[in-house]
Amino acid sequence: MPYKAFSYYDEDDNRITLSLPATWEDCSFCDGTGKTLRGGLAGAVFTAEDINEDPEFFEDMANGAFDVPCDKCKGSGAMKAYDLDEIDVHIRVRIYERDREEAEMAYEREMWRRLEESMYRSY
Ligand SMILES: [Zn+2]
Repeated sequence: MPYKAFSYYDEDDNRITLSLPATWEDCSFCDGTGKTLRGGLAGAVFTAEDINEDPEFFEDMANGAFDVPCDKCKGSGAMKAYDLDEIDVHIRVRIYERDREEAEMAYEREMWRRLEESMYRSY
């Protein structure tokens, strides 16, 4: 069974690192393919017009010419996820709390990014 490290601080501020049971899941970043598009191409949106203008470029892209190994899963297509059924409830609560904090931080970063984008656009 794979293991995944989890660190937290206890009541006395000691950093505790545990090795928790984990399972393999498809990487959510590359959908388990292990590959992503290079640089600015990742997540870019193209219109039918773009494709008509440079069909060769899009053919190359579809054939993987611009693929690079996904850096979230190091190209393996799989990521370890905590096997929550196997984890003590007290630790599970800490994992949920951390996930929630991370999600909130990601949400805030996204909001700032959009705000900045809209500011650039209006000038
Ligand atoms: Zn990946």
